[in-house]
Amino acid sequence: MILGSRSCLSVGTGRLLQGLLPHLRELAIGRVDTSGPVVLIEARSEVAEFGCTACGGMSDRVHSRYVRRLADAAIAGREVQVLLTVRRFRCLEPTCLQATFVEQVPGVAGRYQRRTRPLRGVLEKTAVMLGGRPGARLVERLAMSASRSSIEVPPREWTPS
Ligand SMILES: [Zn+2]
Repeated sequence: MILGSRSCLSVGTGRLLQGLLPHLRELAIGRVDTSGPVVLIEARSEVAEFGCTACGGMSDRVHSRYVRRLADAAIAGREVQVLLTVRRFRCLEPTCLQATFVEQVPGVAGRYQRRTRPLRGVLEKTAVMLGGRPGARLVERLAMSASRSSIEVPPREWTPS
């Protein structure tokens, strides 16, 4: 886990989080707010440049930033959200039709997804084992963010072709 220059975490806290949240180990972790009902973890990538999603050309020219709020698997019975700051880069390739593109952090969450990979794994297993309403009740009791509809959808690999 990379501790950013503005991080308020001690080294010991960083190691604890790395053990609890291995999917965030490649990210810089900022503030961790445990004061409210939901544990909020600020994170961002520190990779300097990314490849354009259209042409693959590398760019380090940041256009803007915004925060993705990702529901994560619970820690010690507490709901967790990752506030992932992502950057929008300008494509530097003059012939590319994609003017800007957003960095992707595939180990954490896929494009347009609002849940982390660990939480998605829990929901997929719950859907297979319990189905809709009982599964939704269980994940709610386990302090994880999911609706009944997110439990009812079976994983793609289980869908008959
Ligand atoms: Zn491009």
